[in-house]
Amino acid sequence: MSEETFDIIVVGAGVIGTATAYYLQKNNPDKRILLLDRQSAPGQANTAMSAAAVRNMFASSTNQLLTDTSIKHMEHIQNEEGFELMFEKVGYLWLLSEEQLNSDSVQLWMKRMKASGVHYRVYNKQELNELMPGLNTDFSGDEDAELMNLREVSYGLFGADCAVLDPTRLVDYYFEEFKKISHVKPRFNVNVTRLLLEADPKLDLPGEPFVWQYKRVNGVVTDKGTLRAETTVLATGAWANELLDPIGMDSRLKAKKRQIFVIHAEGNQRLLDLLETKGFNEMNCVPFVILPSAGAGGAVYFRPQLQEKGFWIGCGDKLGRAYHYVQTDEFNTGETTYYENSLYPVLSKYFPAFEGARPVSSWGGGYSYSPDAIPHVYLENGVLVVNGASGSGIMKSDAMARIADALYRGEPEAELFGGKKIPSDALSLKHRQVEPENVVI
Ligand SMILES: Cc1cc2nc3c(=O)[nH]c(=O)nc-3n(C[C@H](O)[C@H](O)[C@H](O)COP(=O)(O)OP(=O)(O)OC[C@H]3O[C@@H](n4cnc5c(N)ncnc54)[C@H](O)[C@@H]3O)c2cc1C
Repeated sequence: MSEETFDIIVVGAGVIGTATAYYLQKNNPDKRILLLDRQSAPGQANTAMSAAAVRNMFASSTNQLLTDTSIKHMEHIQNEEGFELMFEKVGYLWLLSEEQLNSDSVQLWMKRMKASGVHYRVYNKQELNELMPGLNTDFSGDEDAELMNLREVSYGLFGADCAVLDPTRLVDYYFEEFKKISHVKPRFNVNVTRLLLEADPKLDLPGEPFVWQYKRVNGVVTDKGTLRAETTVLATGAWANELLDPIGMDSRLKAKKRQIFVIHAEGNQRLLDLLETKGFNEMNCVPFVILPSAGAGGAVYFRPQLQEKGFWIGCGDKLGRAYHYVQTDEFNTGETTYYENSLYPVLSKYFPAFEGARPVSSWGGGYSYSPDAIPHVYLENGVLVVNGASGSGIMKSDAMARIADALYRGEPEAELFGGKKIPSDALSLKHRQVEPENVVI
């Protein structure tokens, strides 16, 4: 099989891989960078499966910085550069019980947002009832609600700077910008079967690398041949372990299945009224709504989908939803019984407008979770890992990509959009300087 050599190979052309390839090429104009993916086009895997929403409302100042700067960059792309991302500031609304709002974790979350200048406001029950007449805030005497461990809504925590967008457009933006400046045509339908771990220096002895030799990754072996590079960027999302495990690098990442169910409002006046909820945003639509978590801690959420005149429903289920080592094909299908038995009963209790509503379609994908729910960006053994976005990779993609590029260039700090800075190794495994996150949906 053939063998080719590049300066950098970026494996994975999701939003994180395309953004990383772009910043690497922009700031290292002479380098020959190959972007490749086993799909037939960029942005076809989990980037296309997401709920396509972005928020700066995190409890960790690390995530606040990564998301706030990335979201502002998206606004810049759309408003200043004129590249349509379908970016719409619908806002995020967490519905909370009295107990939740007063809990230590929510109080700390609000305190940290205030300290970082992340805007939010708290609505009380009366204000919520006026704004959202379809919201049920009274479960008194409701035995089903009690059985389901549902909490009554007393407050709403709202972030007006949160938005929805079309992530495939964001991928298109980075991909087009990358192609304008790159020296190497991106390649698709190329499957990386293993990382090329070799002795450093090579002695060309049979059976090397031996334990006493230094080793590094010198590229990738693919189904189309061997591709060599000084640096291999791994932006393979929920499949990180497929390539890192065989060479003994512990990614510390695990995949978890997440699903979206699509409900159309057309022909259903109560759902149309809910969709057209006024008072939260300029679109005069319902915001991204997160219901109080119940039972084993899974928060059901829904977001408006204005182009489809409908809603996307999801849930960040926790205990009971298995972790996997890598994402499998089974991840890609929405489970109808999961919607029927787990999501629908909760959704229709809080918003009776959903009564009788059934999904017209559904899909699934994988989150790539890190232990502290903060991304990983590190360069070790010739591999630059950009991963672990923990379910919020679209909203962190610009910052993660800029950090990866700064690390590659050996810069002590990465400059994020708007001029804010972060140490380049802050997201590394060895010199990690992050605040763990606990607001994970
Ligand atoms: C249901 C759901 C809802 C979500 N909602 C949101 C949300 O609202 N907001 C948000 O910010 N994030 C959300 N996410 C998370 C978000 O989708 C991810 O964090 C983000 O897409 C990660 O980007 P990525 O580029 O790492 O991954 P991907 O888009 O999965 O890209 C990885 C790429 O690597 C390629 N690849 C993997 N292995 C190989 C190999 N061996 N050889 C060649 N190519 C390979 C894949 O084909 C793929 O294209 C959601 C995810 C899911 C599943």
